[in-house]
Amino acid sequence: MTTRPDLAELELNELEAALEARGCERFHARQLYRWIYRRGVTDFEPMTDLSRALRAQLQEAFTITTPRVVMDDTSVDGTRKFLLELADGRRIESVFIPDTPAMTFCISTQVGCAMACDFCLTGKMGLVRNLTAGEIAGQVRVLAAATGLLEHPFNIVLMGMGEPLHNYDNTMKALRMLHNEHGLAISPRRVTLSTVGIVPGLERLAGEPLMPNLAISLHATTEAQRSQLVPPNKKYSLESIIETCRRFPLKKRSRITFEYVMLAGVNDTPEDARRLVRLLSGIRAKVNLIPLNPAPGIPYERPSDARVDRFAQILADRHLTVSVRKSRGQDIRAACGQLIVEGGVKKSAGQQMALLMR
Ligand code: SAH
Repeated sequence: MTTRPDLAELELNELEAALEARGCERFHARQLYRWIYRRGVTDFEPMTDLSRALRAQLQEAFTITTPRVVMDDTSVDGTRKFLLELADGRRIESVFIPDTPAMTFCISTQVGCAMACDFCLTGKMGLVRNLTAGEIAGQVRVLAAATGLLEHPFNIVLMGMGEPLHNYDNTMKALRMLHNEHGLAISPRRVTLSTVGIVPGLERLAGEPLMPNLAISLHATTEAQRSQLVPPNKKYSLESIIETCRRFPLKKRSRITFEYVMLAGVNDTPEDARRLVRLLSGIRAKVNLIPLNPAPGIPYERPSDARVDRFAQILADRHLTVSVRKSRGQDIRAACGQLIVEGGVKKSAGQQMALLMR
């Protein structure tokens, strides 16, 4: 049996070529994009501006694979966590964070993650597999439809499960599909890519025509400490990441965000704050402090508000723009670093371990 091509995996020009190859007019690709992305339609039947005969032909020739919502939990603060099932039964989580002040979708790029950051629950799962471009963009289609935002502006943060630069091609392809003017037309200014700092990936990103905002998960100010908290640092050092950021071609008025998870008694001292200021000097930077979202099996604690404020004040006094990330959706374990799939098929050893430690 030959599998039918999946329209959800195609950029507009690929879709045009696929139609042409089957003797259909290319211009239907734009109609299909409008239905799939703008109207949130997931099969051919409702596409009423296409003839019945064409719809039947498309139905025969193609599929439109869309992640299935398995669970949809709403937090007391309005955050919604979606558990989505993919075509192969694997599961991922995507989060809707309303009014921050924008509407924001936090999207996954991998099932699990290979980075193994010491304070992150997803990291305990290990990497199961990369998401396809269609699965990454599909999360946005599903969440926009479920939240009634198909025709409203929203932001996307690639801060769900996975390391986007470890799945570079599919992530970038998804952004192109979401950017297409016949679909959701999402501006790259509305997208933030968060990364542990994979230097070759950053270098490729620097040459992208469609460049999202950049956030670097820094979390420590010395090589030794960062290597302990963020293992990829052993390969791509703090120094090399900072150096790459210095050369990164930023758009006008834009800045690189440096995320800094605060761990009580570990990286939250005034000395850490002062080192952070020195490290970032000369970079158009802003700092986003993220007090740890604790979880069973994570061997760290969240610092007191006073301690976080003290740290923030030191940065602000030295003219760094600093914000403290409010933790959202903690009651439904939708907060940063708390995404982990419980009900998925074939759990990896890491997953099982993480479950046992809960
Ligand atoms: N792999 C990417 C994106 C996913 S994580 C990256 O590392 O940037 C998104 C953010 O949540 C990262 O800054 C990550 O370090 C942070 N995070 C992970 N675990 C956390 C936890 N337990 N508490 C608070 N933030 C956490």
